[in-house]
Amino acid sequence: MRIVLFGAPGSGKGTQAEFISRDQGIPHISTGDMLREAARNGTEVGLKARSFMDRGALVPDQVMIEVVAQRLEKDDANKGFLLDGFPRTVEQAEKLDDILKLRGTGIDAVLWLEVDDRELVKRLTSRRICSGCGAIYNLLFQAPITPGRCDKCGSSLDQRVDDQQATAQKRLEVYQQQTSPLKDYYLSRGILKKIDGAKSPDEVYSSLKETLRSGRK
Ligand code: AMP
Repeated sequence: MRIVLFGAPGSGKGTQAEFISRDQGIPHISTGDMLREAARNGTEVGLKARSFMDRGALVPDQVMIEVVAQRLEKDDANKGFLLDGFPRTVEQAEKLDDILKLRGTGIDAVLWLEVDDRELVKRLTSRRICSGCGAIYNLLFQAPITPGRCDKCGSSLDQRVDDQQATAQKRLEVYQQQTSPLKDYYLSRGILKKIDGAKSPDEVYSSLKETLRSGRK
């Protein structure tokens, strides 16, 4: 399946994407993860992207479309994929449709994780990421067993620069202005599925699975 996981920053896309990718055997393509890795490696795209990311702004569409177009050319994306964090603008969505149309395919489902705005800021500022293996924690509902240490690999847990209060708030504003119009874009194509993202990660995943299952019938 070709799936887009859609939702505001902090809606749980990364966590749910890991579950879906594992169960469906499709690659999890997170543009945020790709940009952070590129920035760590000091590539031209990474360095350019970092200046936008650190202030909570979107990286320009042309850069993002190029990054995703190249990623989708890899063999593992032939059997399907899960996009997390892309598209984030109507222009990105249109270009994605064009790329897929050229291959005679399209997006099968857009899963929208809906979470209340007040809850999102709390979640973002409580998120921690393992510096070793990238595992995601949340001090509110998925805290590590030993404070500050990853349960899986024991490395230290970090807060993303853009999860700090002021930048998190800015990212939510950017989401409302530039990304949320995508709901209408996908609604008009009949592939948008709304899921209550306010529940626990396991409950949200049950709803996601059910939605995917009923979409196949
Ligand atoms: P994420 O990890 O998905 O929250 O993304 C972190 C940051 O990476 C965002 O706040 C943007 O600065 C940038 N980014 C990731 N994906 C995109 C995209 N599709 N379009 C523009 N910027 C993006």
